[in-house]
This record gives sequence, structure tokens and C-alpha cells, in this order.
Amino acid sequence: NRQILLASRPVGAPKAENFNLVESPIPKPEQGQMLLRALWTSLDPYMRGRMSDAKSYSEPVPVGGVMPCGAVCRVEESHLEGFAKGDLVMSYTAGWQDYSVSNGTMVFKLDPQMQNPSQALGVLGMPGFTGYMGLLDIGQPKPGETVVVAAATGPVGAVVGQVAKLKGCRVVGVAGGAEKCAYAVKELGFDACLDHKQDDLAEQLAQACPQGIDVYFENVGGKVFDAVMPLLNPHSRIPVCGLIAQYNATELPPGPDRLPQLMRLMLSQRIRMQAFIIFDNYGPHYPEFLKVMTPWVAEGKVKVKEDQVDGLENAPAAFMGLLEGRNFGKLVVKIADS
Ligand code: NDP
Repeated sequence: NRQILLASRPVGAPKAENFNLVESPIPKPEQGQMLLRALWTSLDPYMRGRMSDAKSYSEPVPVGGVMPCGAVCRVEESHLEGFAKGDLVMSYTAGWQDYSVSNGTMVFKLDPQMQNPSQALGVLGMPGFTGYMGLLDIGQPKPGETVVVAAATGPVGAVVGQVAKLKGCRVVGVAGGAEKCAYAVKELGFDACLDHKQDDLAEQLAQACPQGIDVYFENVGGKVFDAVMPLLNPHSRIPVCGLIAQYNATELPPGPDRLPQLMRLMLSQRIRMQAFIIFDNYGPHYPEFLKVMTPWVAEGKVKVKEDQVDGLENAPAAFMGLLEGRNFGKLVVKIADS
């Protein structure tokens, strides 16, 4: 059983030395447990937080522990009622390893006929659910309004933008580089997409949002938020989903301190800013999300892009790339064929 462990806590951006690939015997499931074989493993930004021992919404991975992740798995052996050998499942507690033992907690059965099981990690899984609920429940987009989202070609941002288009909004994406921006406009149907690596992002954003911004879906923080702030309309909504621009930061950004400016803006514009952690806030809504999103994906109303990496041994490098925008689409790692 190959496993990738947290070797040490990163300071700043994670490095190869923070991960350790080890071999251990395949674990044996007991009564009330099952053995899962990972087929597709998910790499997501939240894992950076789990590598650190700073205060957060969930416990850090202990040094020497298996890196956490969700994975699409095959049930290899089952002593657990409701699950049989051969079942295809989504396990949210699989970890960066070939095999895991589960008691069924946070494990969901998948349709064995599912054409692209890896989509259970992206558009039909945690990230897609995040974009959908955060946009609709907190963002409350109305036809004709302007919605802005960064990390626009990733699994959260792509769902936010495409669902906002389906709701009749003007959608402006922000992404890293010309290729991602072209994809957001041509394939995902965004009205515009701006490259955050350009120095004049704030001017470009003002031009792309002539009616101001009604919903800013916050995925990144940093200079994208600085560019968004002056454009926020009265009664605008900000679902605070993620702050990836800060995840590797070791100190506060350079001044001046913009908190007083933000507080004044929130008051004068009566802005609603609300953070959420997807399963914590919205867990019971997962089936209803799937009921809507599954046909949208099947009919091509919501398009999907995956960045597929081959082999567990390549997960650390791919994960480090994710934090720097080197992924293009939902990052997944193929572990085994079946
Ligand atoms: P992505 O696959 O989109 O990957 C992250 C992307 O962030 C990168 O590809 C890069 O895209 C962008 N990025 C990285 N650094 C910066 C930076 N300094 N400035 C601007 N953009 C940057 O990730 P997801 O779609 O999985 O996640 C998007 C966000 O949603 C993350 O912040 C994540 O933590 C959050 N999230 C929150 C959840 C919740 O429950 N609250 C659940 C799931 C995700 P680009 O090259 O385009 O800049």
C-alpha cells in the first residue's frame, strides 16, 4: 500500500521535502469495515490548510500522518452492511494512498455505470457543490446582475460562472493567463475573463463591469479583492469561499491596512459578506444539488475540464502546482484502472 505522508509542516509554499512516499502492508478491514481501492484521488486547495497547525475549521494532519483527500474508490472487500465488493464509491476520507479502511462515514455510493467517475471529485462532488450553494444561497444572483469570480477555470469558479450564466447574469471571470481566460469565454460562456497577472487588472475589471458588481464570489483574496472593492454595488453579496492567494503567506500583506476602508464600504453599500464551509453549512443539500447538476453536465449546459495526473507518486508536485495556478481544470490523480 503506497501512502504519501506529511513529512514536515511547510513554511510558505510546500516543498517536496514536506511529503514522504512510503510502502506499508494493505490494511485488513474488520467487522463493520470495508477495504477501499482508490481509483481517482482529488487534490484540493484546502489540503494546504491541513498541513499547517494554525487554528482552522478542521484539525491539522499530524506530522507522519497520511495526507487527506477524497477519492473515487472500488470496494475491494466488505464486512459492512450496505456495501459489497465491486461497488463504486466516493470516500471523503480516503487519503493519499492506494488502499484505505472505512466504516462508511462520509462514503457515498456512485452509479456503477457512471461514465466519468472522476467527476465525482469535481463538478459533481465537493467543489461543484461549493460553487453551486455559495452562489445561489449567499450570492442570490438575479437576472441582469453582474457576477465576478476568480480561479474561474477551476472546479469551483467554473461552476459559479456557468450557473450564474444559466440564471441570466453577466459573468466576469478572473484567471491566471491568456489561455485560461480564452477558455472561460469561448468554452464556459463567460462574458469576459481577465488575467490577474496583468498590472492593470483594476482598470480592466472596471471596464468589464460598467454596471458595477452585484455578486463577488471570493475564491482568492489578495489583489483580486482589491480590484473588486471599489466596484461593489449597494446591496452586493460576497460569498467568502476561499482565499488561496494567502494560503502560503507567512506574513500579512504590505500596508496600508485596508480593513477600515472595507468596513466603511460594507456599511455604506450595505454589503452582505458571508463565509461558508461547504459540508458544514450545506451537507443536507447534497442530493438536491446532484439532482440539478447531473443533467446539466449530461446535457452540456455545464462544461467540465479536468487536469489529470497519472500516479500517486506525482501527487505532491501536482499539489504544489495547484497552489501556483499550474493546474488547468479540476486536478485529479489517477491511481488505478479498476
Ligand atoms: P482550483 O482548481 O481553481 O485551483 C486553485 C486556483 O487558484 C489556481 O489554479 C489558480 O488559478 C488560483 N490561484 C492560485 N493562487 C492565486 C493567486 N495568488 N491569485 C489569484 N488566483 C490564484 O481550485 P478550486 O476550484 O478547487 O477552489 C477554489 C477556491 O475555493 C479555493 O480558494 C478553495 O480553497 C475554495 N474552496 C472552498 C470550499 C469551502 O467549503 N469554503 C470548498 C472548496 C473549495 P489561476 O491560474 O486562474 O489564477
